[in-house]
Amino acid sequence: MRKFNFSAGPAALPEEVLLHLQYDLLDWQAQGVSILEMPHRAPAAINLLEETVQLFRGLLKIPDHFQILFMHGGARMQFAAIPMNLLGQNSNAVYLNTGYWSEAAAAEAKRYGDISVPPLKKGGGEVFRAGGIFNAAYVHYCDNETIDGIEFSSPPVVDNIPLVSDMSSNILSRPIDWGRFGLIYAGMQKNIGPAGLAVVVVREDLLDQAQAMTPSVLHYKTQVKAHSAYNTLPLFNIYAASLVFKWLQKQGGVEAIALINQRKAQKVYAVIDKHELYHNDVDLSCRSRMNITFSLPNKNLEEKFIKEARERGFINLEGHPSAGGIRLSVYNAISEPMVDRLVAFMEEFAKNTLS
Ligand code: PMP
Repeated sequence: MRKFNFSAGPAALPEEVLLHLQYDLLDWQAQGVSILEMPHRAPAAINLLEETVQLFRGLLKIPDHFQILFMHGGARMQFAAIPMNLLGQNSNAVYLNTGYWSEAAAAEAKRYGDISVPPLKKGGGEVFRAGGIFNAAYVHYCDNETIDGIEFSSPPVVDNIPLVSDMSSNILSRPIDWGRFGLIYAGMQKNIGPAGLAVVVVREDLLDQAQAMTPSVLHYKTQVKAHSAYNTLPLFNIYAASLVFKWLQKQGGVEAIALINQRKAQKVYAVIDKHELYHNDVDLSCRSRMNITFSLPNKNLEEKFIKEARERGFINLEGHPSAGGIRLSVYNAISEPMVDRLVAFMEEFAKNTLS
């Protein structure tokens, strides 16, 4: 029996997408073969890839001067690919550190360039201005810290330096103001589809500054020329993504899901703030809408919470091992009624524990 999966990733997918994938697993689009068996250069495969790119472009209203790439290796591969591709002429970049993933991105980038990490108030996305940063090829930040439950409510202001953003855990959860960005990227296993790929959206004028040693598979310009298929692209992942994109269109698109996401998060934070039993210490201005972290007064209570939640079908609520506590990942595929049921459980658990 399927359960309510609040995992941070790989994350829940819409059930109708899973049923669709199951239905066409043996014979995809009357091609006589499974999508898992399709040659990636067959006309039907090329059409699928083009359609998927266009669906994504449409959902996020991505302007024509940005290229969209699907690349192997998830988001961590981009931690290396980004400095390799952008630090060929100017080897300096600035990385904002707001938590686990931005720190990991900076650590990897240090292998390929001169990386500075300015002091920052924890979770202080709102107050950051990149004043004084003149000699940087780009400024990198993580739009949503999946482990820490910290999200920028709007991108940091970096004046004329290209802004690069890791949007792995909040891509497609709200509109993006493209005028602010040089490049965004996201591992696809949260709001898009199966794990293994990353989507990269890169402004065309940034495609000519790669380091000479950049491997061809990671070289953005090579991948642009090859329409993301310089080497064999996992078509199953692309197909799954295309179905998620169509599902999202049916929900009313990114603007509509953004309102739902806002409401879902408000409902969970309201119950956290109402009961002393639950504690979230993220600054109010930076609370994540996607990954809601909180703790209970002790480990025993947290284990009891997780056990009782599991008995009701709510699974994968454990915080990341490095952070502990509880984490509810409420990505696009987690419906508002599902959140309502979880919130009702939290109310009930608080009442029973305190009485
Ligand atoms: N960045 C963020 C914000 C993430 O949440 C994750 C994975 N949870 C990663 C990077 C790493 O992604 P991947 O496993 O696809 O390399």
